[in-house]
Amino acid sequence: MVSIDNFNFAGKKAFVRVDFNVPLDENFNITDDTRIRAALPTLKKILADGGSPVIGSHLGRPKGATDKFSLKHILKHVSELLGVDVQFATDCIGEEAAIKASALQPGEVLLLENLRFYAEEEGKPRGLAEDASEEEKKAAKKAVKESQKVFTKTLASYADCYVNDAFGTAHRAHASTALIADYFDTDHKMFGYLMEKEVKAVEKVMKDITRPFTAIMGGSKVSSKIEIIENLLDKVDNLIIAGGMTYTFTKAQGGKIGNSLVEDDKLDLALELIGKAKEKGVNLVLAVDAKIADSFSNDANTGFCPVNQIPEGWEGLDIGPGTEKIFAEVIEKSKTILWNGPTGVFEFENFTHGSRAVGEAIVKATASGAFSLVGGGDSVACVNKFGMADKVSYVSTGGGALLEAIEGKVLPGIAAIENKG
Ligand code: AMP
Repeated sequence: MVSIDNFNFAGKKAFVRVDFNVPLDENFNITDDTRIRAALPTLKKILADGGSPVIGSHLGRPKGATDKFSLKHILKHVSELLGVDVQFATDCIGEEAAIKASALQPGEVLLLENLRFYAEEEGKPRGLAEDASEEEKKAAKKAVKESQKVFTKTLASYADCYVNDAFGTAHRAHASTALIADYFDTDHKMFGYLMEKEVKAVEKVMKDITRPFTAIMGGSKVSSKIEIIENLLDKVDNLIIAGGMTYTFTKAQGGKIGNSLVEDDKLDLALELIGKAKEKGVNLVLAVDAKIADSFSNDANTGFCPVNQIPEGWEGLDIGPGTEKIFAEVIEKSKTILWNGPTGVFEFENFTHGSRAVGEAIVKATASGAFSLVGGGDSVACVNKFGMADKVSYVSTGGGALLEAIEGKVLPGIAAIENKG
């Protein structure tokens, strides 16, 4: 496998899959350009070498070509950030794209229109009648898989090499994120800089672990985190459970949780996970106290109580000070840390204290040499809100992709570049 740093793009066209799926307001102004900025080092390296990037991306979840999801809305901003007048192909396949790609000179950039305007990008049939029979569904799937080959080959024909810098879609086996890699030999496909950083960060918590390894799993529901928790039980020394999940574990053990969030159909599962942790010698760390509220609101009356003695009419919306102390002690002794999900309803200012305390402990451990990875959703919002993003080792840009990686799944976008010749 080649690394982007060792590849010379001089005179070469590179198909670069980026994640420019940025939020736009009603006037199509970009409200957060983080994802575009994240791809700049890769694009700039290609340009500095004297190469020409052909950029492919998706935007939103269009069901066909629509103005709303056109990448033309971001063209000006991409040009400004790159310092190059970026050309635009109003369709990602077809004559215009082919002509513009082929005429591209060193130092020039072409942005293709939204790849998801075509069902072939995702390889899923569109427009099927709701009452379609199983046979019709099967035929439609087969048809789109067939035309996907042509679509993928067309995209590949624009370039001499392939660079994947879209970690956010690495868990999808789409045309431009994985299948396209087959059209390039091992020496002509590689990760971009962002993807490289993400892959390394995941390896540090999944393979190349320095112990003790502590994972902090917060968020709302056990059901959405089961696979992650089960996979982590084989890897971590300490597993801290926080957030709304707490109360399912507390109730399962016979505690009183008042009106707190609970998944009654997951009580057995919670007990099972407690048992598995014991079996595997994992230190499962649960909350001992809670910050409670008499309604689900920032302005609710609040109090603190043991996590298993929450009065009727009250609900746990964050961890309490005793829990903060226990969590911090475990985190500060760790050498590898993974944080996914807040300890409470951090969207309400009055229930951010626990998440902030966890963040502070992670920052402290990081300053003493621990590797810390934050990612997979709302914990990223937490570190940004608390101004801690540059005080942890790595903040992942990939929500779903990171979650699947820590579930232990192979990500097609990574495998396509790593494994195949
Ligand atoms: P997730 O997407 O599963 O990571 O969950 C994040 C969400 O969990 C955030 O919106 C939090 O507000 C929510 N959450 C965290 N703790 C609690 C709690 N104690 N009760 C209800 N929701 C919670």
